[in-house]
Amino acid sequence: MRAVLISLIFSIVCYPAPVRAEAGKPVCEQAGIKVLTDFQGGNINGCEFASDGRLTISVAPEDEPINSSPWYAFRLLADVTTNIAMVLDYGNYKHRYTPDFSIDGVNWQTYPATKLDLNNDKSRAGFSLKVPQDKSVVIAAQPLLTSSHYATWLESLKAQHGVTVSSAGPSVDGRQLWRVTSPAKKHTLLLLGRQHPPETTGALALISFVERLFEDDALATRFHDQVGILLYPLINPDGVDKGLWRHNVGGKDLNREWGRFSQPENRIIDSDVSKWLETHDTELIKAIDFHSTHYEVFYTQPDQSASTMPGLLGDWLAQFEALMRSQFDDFDIQRQVSESPQVNAAKHYFFTKYGISSTTLEIGDETDRGVIKAYGRAAAESFMSAYFEQPSAGTAIDNRPLDLMFKGGLVVDGMGAPPYEGDVGVQ
Ligand SMILES: [Zn+2]
Repeated sequence: MRAVLISLIFSIVCYPAPVRAEAGKPVCEQAGIKVLTDFQGGNINGCEFASDGRLTISVAPEDEPINSSPWYAFRLLADVTTNIAMVLDYGNYKHRYTPDFSIDGVNWQTYPATKLDLNNDKSRAGFSLKVPQDKSVVIAAQPLLTSSHYATWLESLKAQHGVTVSSAGPSVDGRQLWRVTSPAKKHTLLLLGRQHPPETTGALALISFVERLFEDDALATRFHDQVGILLYPLINPDGVDKGLWRHNVGGKDLNREWGRFSQPENRIIDSDVSKWLETHDTELIKAIDFHSTHYEVFYTQPDQSASTMPGLLGDWLAQFEALMRSQFDDFDIQRQVSESPQVNAAKHYFFTKYGISSTTLEIGDETDRGVIKAYGRAAAESFMSAYFEQPSAGTAIDNRPLDLMFKGGLVVDGMGAPPYEGDVGVQ
């Protein structure tokens, strides 16, 4: 089922097969069986065959300390069709991603999670696969979604919807930080993706979100007359193509570097956003940053806390929930308002810099691909309709209670009713 849905979600895009048939230098080999990582996203720490043919794949992070997102991707080649028993050995970390496998790099199947042989502390996961003669079987923590896939997708966006694809500048290793724009309008929507390499489900939601924004219906057409898109889909291309767990090749979690700016990826995108807003007559109204975790959740500011379009966040999420409920029985939105936000994450950085609501949209690691597509589409559709419910930015009315607003240069404290009844001329 999942394989079919993966094919469906990509049906508009003909992805290239990223895996070469000829063998590179194996990480290890024995008796006509080779283990290789010679493709974008390929990465394991090492491997070893036991005398009985059992294969141990060592999975280890690029550096430490690190968030536990144990990525692995490798391929097996066999001289004759062989059933290979293997173990993913996570060392001090725990199993997180159910293996996916593919022969052509396009169509993927998920190994049945119930058939995985996990030890008590989940530091080892055993399974076996049949590797057909002279065919390469790729095994990965998630179906691969690397820079060549993005390139193909962006080409199709350009061809179908006339977006401009350009580069904001180079990553540490010299890969392009793609910027995708539609013509600048009165307002701008900022979309960010793939700060964290293994988070492909969030990336799929971003793809569905963007595809929905560019659909040829009345809502989207009206939206594009008012709102231009500023999209950075692949912020950590080095980490993605090298199969890293979390960081960029400079050893940093890029979503802890906004404001610190020790890495070129954050610096370049931050100044590119500023420049775009300065050189076009447009106002930023919203940022959405796509990620993955164990389940779907929106991380947000409190309602009405943005100075630009303060009602947009609440209206968007209410409409999103209603739209999802029309498609999925018992759907409940998961939303978390950060009590003490991570100040160097993109969400908080763009909120404080621009006074906009800025949201992290998280998708579950193992969420069904059809659900991800529906989720991304509903998020886009509800965003567009919620946008039209807002007073336009030039005449935006700040509906926050007075006690949250500045008055006479002072923050007026207190809760509930405005303390200065009859003296409400703040706006
Ligand atoms: Zn993330």
